[in-house]
Amino acid sequence: METEEKKLSIEDFTLLKVVGKGSYGTVMLARKIDSGEVLAIKMLKKSYLKKRKQEIHTKAERFILETINHPFIVNLKYAFQNTEKLYFCLEFCPGGELFFHLQRVENFDEEVTRFYSAQMVLALEHLHKNNVIYRDLKPENVLINTDGYIKLTDFGLAKENVMTDKDAKSFCGTPEYLAPEILERKGHGKPVDWWSLASIIYEMIVGLPPFYEKDNREKLFKEIKSGEPEYPDDMSPACRDLLEGLFKKDPADRLGGSEGNADEIKSHPWYSQVDWDILKEKKIIPPFKPKLDSDDDTKYIDNEFTEMLPMDSAADGTVLDSGSMTWKDFSFDSNKMMTD
Ligand code: ADP
Ligand code: MG
Repeated sequence: METEEKKLSIEDFTLLKVVGKGSYGTVMLARKIDSGEVLAIKMLKKSYLKKRKQEIHTKAERFILETINHPFIVNLKYAFQNTEKLYFCLEFCPGGELFFHLQRVENFDEEVTRFYSAQMVLALEHLHKNNVIYRDLKPENVLINTDGYIKLTDFGLAKENVMTDKDAKSFCGTPEYLAPEILERKGHGKPVDWWSLASIIYEMIVGLPPFYEKDNREKLFKEIKSGEPEYPDDMSPACRDLLEGLFKKDPADRLGGSEGNADEIKSHPWYSQVDWDILKEKKIIPPFKPKLDSDDDTKYIDNEFTEMLPMDSAADGTVLDSGSMTWKDFSFDSNKMMTD
C-alpha cells in the first residue's frame, strides 16, 4: 500500500533567529530538521493580508517565486500553510541587506555601485522578459549572498497597494523610490523598475535617495513628479548621463524605453566595462564576500532583528481559517513539485 506523503509544516523546522521584518512579513532563519538545511522562512498572516488587501499580491509573489529562476533572484525551496499563516521557505542570504552595508560605509564608489547595479539590471531584464514588474527595488530588498553576489527578495509588491490605499495612516514602507507615473496613478509598466534602478544607483553613490524629504510626503511626491536630483560634482559624467536618462519623468522617454528594454541600459557607456555574460556566471571577484563562521551566522543582520525571540505565534492557534479556497495550491516543494 502506498504511504501518504506527509505535508510540510512549521513543526519540521527549528526556528533559529529573526532575520528581518517587512511591511507584511516576518522572516526567520530556520533549520529543516530532517535535512539540516538552513532556510529563511517568510511568514505572513492570512488575516492581515486580507485586511490589507494583499491577497492578490501574495498569490503573485508565490507564483513568481516558483516560476522565476535567476542567479540574482532569491530561490523558493518550499511553501506551505496552516489555517492562520503562509510560509515561504527561501534560500538564506547570509550577507544581509545591501542597505546594512551601505549604512555602515555611508556610500559606495562607482566601481562597487556598478557591480551591484549591473546584477540588478540582469535580474530586472529577466523579470521583464517574463512580464513581471518588480516595483519594489530598494536597498532593503537587495540581499547579499554567500558568494558576495546579490539576490533580489520580496515579490510582495507592497508599494503598489500602498498607492491605491485611501487610508493615509496605513501608508507604509518607504515611498522614496516610486516612479512619477506611479504617483500620477495613470497606470504604469516595466519602466518603473528602471526609475527605481536609478534611485538605488544614486543612493549607493551619494548615500541618500535622490528624492528625500524627511517627514514631508507631499513635498517628496512633488519633487519626484517635477524636481531634478542634485548630482555631486565628483560623479563621473557617464554615471550622471545614465542617471539623467533613467530619471526621465515620462516613461516613454526613459532609458529602457516604454517597452522596458534593458539593452539600452546595458549598452550605456557607464556599463561599458561590464561583460554581462561573465557577470551572470559570477566570474568576477566581488568587492565584498561575507566571512561566515557557520551556515547560520547572522553577523551581517541587524541586531534589531536577531535579538527578537524566534517564535511562530501561529502555534497558539487562536485565529480560524480565513478562507482555505483563497490559498488553494499555495504549497510547494522544489524537490518534488507538490501542491495541495
Ligand atoms: P515584506 O514583504 O514584508 O517587505 P520581505 O520579503 O522584504 O518582507 O522580508 C523582510 C526582510 O527580511 C528583508 O528586508 C530582509 O532583510 C529579510 N529577508 C527576506 N528574505 C531573506 C532571505 N532569503 N535571506 C535573508 N534575509 C531575508
Ligand atoms: Mg520588503
